[in-house]
Amino acid sequence: DSEILAEIREIIREKSVELIHLQFVDIEGILKSITVTAEQIEDVIEGKQMFDGSSVKGFSPINKSDLYLMPDYSTFAVLPWTVEDGYSEARFLCSATNPDGTLFEGDTRNVLKKTVDRAAAQGYTISVGPELEFFLFKADENGNPTMELSDNGGYFEPSPKDLGEKVRLEIYRALKAMGFIIEASHHEVAEGQHEINFKYADALGAADLATTYKWVVKTIAQKFGLHATFMPKPVFGINGSGMHVNMSFFKDGENAFYDPTDELQLSNKAYQFIGGLIENVKNFTAVTNPLVNSYKRLVPGYEAPCYIAWSASNRSALIRIPAKKGMATRVELRCPDPSANPYLTFAVIASAGLDGIEKDLKAPAPINEDIFHMTDEYRTQLGIENLPGSLESAVAELENGEIGRKTLGEHVYNKYVTAKKAEWNNYRTAVHTWELVNYQSKF
Ligand code: GLU
Ligand code: MG
Ligand code: MG
Repeated sequence: DSEILAEIREIIREKSVELIHLQFVDIEGILKSITVTAEQIEDVIEGKQMFDGSSVKGFSPINKSDLYLMPDYSTFAVLPWTVEDGYSEARFLCSATNPDGTLFEGDTRNVLKKTVDRAAAQGYTISVGPELEFFLFKADENGNPTMELSDNGGYFEPSPKDLGEKVRLEIYRALKAMGFIIEASHHEVAEGQHEINFKYADALGAADLATTYKWVVKTIAQKFGLHATFMPKPVFGINGSGMHVNMSFFKDGENAFYDPTDELQLSNKAYQFIGGLIENVKNFTAVTNPLVNSYKRLVPGYEAPCYIAWSASNRSALIRIPAKKGMATRVELRCPDPSANPYLTFAVIASAGLDGIEKDLKAPAPINEDIFHMTDEYRTQLGIENLPGSLESAVAELENGEIGRKTLGEHVYNKYVTAKKAEWNNYRTAVHTWELVNYQSKF
């Protein structure tokens, strides 16, 4: 630690860092921040910054509200868009701690740490590569999002069709300056839709990257008069945005999912991991797909999954095995969307996979046909179930299963279920445009 701290102090001097933002996330994965001056760096690194946990969604009750922020030194980064001559700002991502220094159980970053520890106890490190898609909408003169998309380009379409190219370049530069290793960036299938891919990391690091990525994308887009959204299905009739999660377990420096002797080059552990996902996915969909809107993406025909099946290559399947093998062997879960809290999302996926390994759950036979075009009867015959069709049924499935309570812990689990039920109820009782269009004049 002393080496990395010396480096941080040096950067603060060298880049004239004046302000430091201490960031953390609430139960929905929404970024929160308290800003201190750089002179307070010594207190900050000792985790002495206090805050009121009772005002943060999903955190502590009013009578036990004092919490502290313990920065994760590895997340220190100067914010490239603040750098001027003789001035800059930096940030840390932090974990919330109790006054006695223990990790606060209501902080979802700490929830993921528990699953990381559970894997570590069995000798595994968890590698995660998330792929977050997003839309760019034009903002109005007040900076509010409109429904007008930034461009009408399509898949892999270059400029001049892709107005987003310039924005993506700036986002790429900012992410790179903050330490991301960017692998690719492209226009996605839908108009106004984009994706920038960064290199996989350990589970906690990858959740930190996903959180930072969403913030940077929104921040840079705003500088171009655009509004970036990670809402899963902003426009009816075209693709929505996914956050595919690629995961593998490593043991003793080797990829535990790789076995060159197997037909698909997958190890028994990989098949058990897939078995664990298939077994538990219904019960954790409320976490990986947390919004009312999430379920409008999980419908047939838009490259998003809605049936519970796996395949080596099939993009209509929930679980896919990307072609790259060896150290890159991994399982891609395609249901999560980028509105999900990445800490909770990676925790439930890894936890379900660990269950598969611990209980020796067998992966069912892979489905290599296009599942979207099967008849309902044929799907039933093959034993293919549906993902939950709404937030309401997803929350009911979360309550039916063990995986949520076990992985999230009592505190986060209870707050989560309560919040999601309230969200559904609010939606259920509201009158929507669709109802007016279809019923107002007819009846
Ligand atoms: N946008 C699609 C989704 O909703 C995924 C497209 C892709 O395969 O990258 O998940
Ligand atoms: Mg994509
Ligand atoms: Mg993908």
